[in-house]
Amino acid sequence: MPANSFESSYLGTPPWDIGRPQPAIKRLAETGQLTGTVLDVGCGTGENALYLAERGFAVVGIDGAPTAVKKARAKAKRRGLNALFEVADALDLSMPQKFDTVLDSGLFHVFSDEERDRFRDSLTRVVKPGGTYFLMCFSDQEPGDWGPRRVTQAEIRSVFSDGWRVNHIEPSAFDTNMGHAQAWLASVSRL
Ligand code: SAH
Repeated sequence: MPANSFESSYLGTPPWDIGRPQPAIKRLAETGQLTGTVLDVGCGTGENALYLAERGFAVVGIDGAPTAVKKARAKAKRRGLNALFEVADALDLSMPQKFDTVLDSGLFHVFSDEERDRFRDSLTRVVKPGGTYFLMCFSDQEPGDWGPRRVTQAEIRSVFSDGWRVNHIEPSAFDTNMGHAQAWLASVSRL
């Protein structure tokens, strides 16, 4: 799905926009797995990034949907947090800053096969060597066909088979406004 097709969903409240951080992302922070500067790719209205900013992380969120970025900026202002939010295409990142950690809550699973490779190459340009990408996506364990494309562990391993190391992939879950959904939470480091 192209990034701009998300724009209209932010005129209302989409199912994934739960108004609080994902519990799985909170656990990553609480268990000390997130380090250094953080880039939240496909940040939506910013709840995960803002949670991290509140905990003292230097965090930048990017999203292709201008309305999502506008909402994220407004929340940051209201809450007195200095997370930065920018409109950008995750498939074509070129930022002067390189990040220690990249967070992805629900972006990877929107991409086609071809886009997955472009996304990995785009990430390679913004993650420091040794930096880690945390990927949370809908999993093939989720029944039915509601919501985004299901992703298998093998697909994640195959996209990141060269120049990256998959540290682990564990079962997790998304909170949505329509209930829970089975997810994979992967930790992948750039070599
Ligand atoms: N991380 C957020 C939003 C997940 S929904 C959350 O947890 O709530 C997926 C998000 O990715 C949407 O906000 C959509 O606008 C964004 N997106 C989709 N394709 C994109 C692209 N190519 N570049 C940047 N953002 C993109």
